[in-house]
Amino acid sequence: MSEVPAYAPRPGVVQEQAWPAMREGSWPVAIMPFGATEPHNTHLPYGTDTILGSHVAAQVSAACLSQGIRVATLPALPYGVNTTQLDLPFTINCMPSTQLALLRDVVQSLAPHGVRALVLLNAHGGNELRALVRELQPATSIVLSIVNWWQAGDHAHFAEAGDHAGELETAAMLHVAPHLVQPDRSSWGAGHARPSVFEGVRAGWAWMPRRWTQVTDDTGVGNPAQATAERGAAFVAQAVDRIAAYCIQLASVDPAAMWRDRPAGI
Ligand SMILES: [Zn+2]
Repeated sequence: MSEVPAYAPRPGVVQEQAWPAMREGSWPVAIMPFGATEPHNTHLPYGTDTILGSHVAAQVSAACLSQGIRVATLPALPYGVNTTQLDLPFTINCMPSTQLALLRDVVQSLAPHGVRALVLLNAHGGNELRALVRELQPATSIVLSIVNWWQAGDHAHFAEAGDHAGELETAAMLHVAPHLVQPDRSSWGAGHARPSVFEGVRAGWAWMPRRWTQVTDDTGVGNPAQATAERGAAFVAQAVDRIAAYCIQLASVDPAAMWRDRPAGI
């Protein structure tokens, strides 16, 4: 007879809870991870962004709940904006306009449930969520904001953090889901990215989406070679701490008093 694993829903993770855990009291903050389905060099899985975003959100919920603040983690959106990677098999694109429609539905669903703030926890660079928030915020009293989780920790943890499947993301996956990282490091691509031919794009004052297969041969941007699980753990822990502190502040947010001068010295 096979043994039934112990009942262990992660605290605050909505898709793992039964109704009684969610219906009592209020949940002032919700986090929605935004992921993607796309190749991540030759060593990380297609779901890397979704896996990392979901993990960080769940850890943030746990950290907040341990301090008595109820922060709910919503199911992640597993598809991201990938309009310039569609020549890579099984990349699944979700248009910004589709994300807008979906987010509108999520916000409208949460509105009657006492949620005061919704954090969009972004885990994929192609998801540029600001336009969505700018469009939806005037129509809701829920305070909307965006956290790019990979920017919430210090990049000094890494020799070269990288952009896509580089050292940061690889280290995080070695910590969060080591069973999904290709163990033969000699097979990992170097993540070399070709620079733009345009000076303005290289300097950052001009921008255009990158035609991914022209930029990189292995789909990676950033060399993963130095990645370690220990540095990944340290970075994720730091990001979780900071995002949890942000969510705790959001839990008591007064939308009419979010901007103010601070006393000298703070
Ligand atoms: Zn990624």
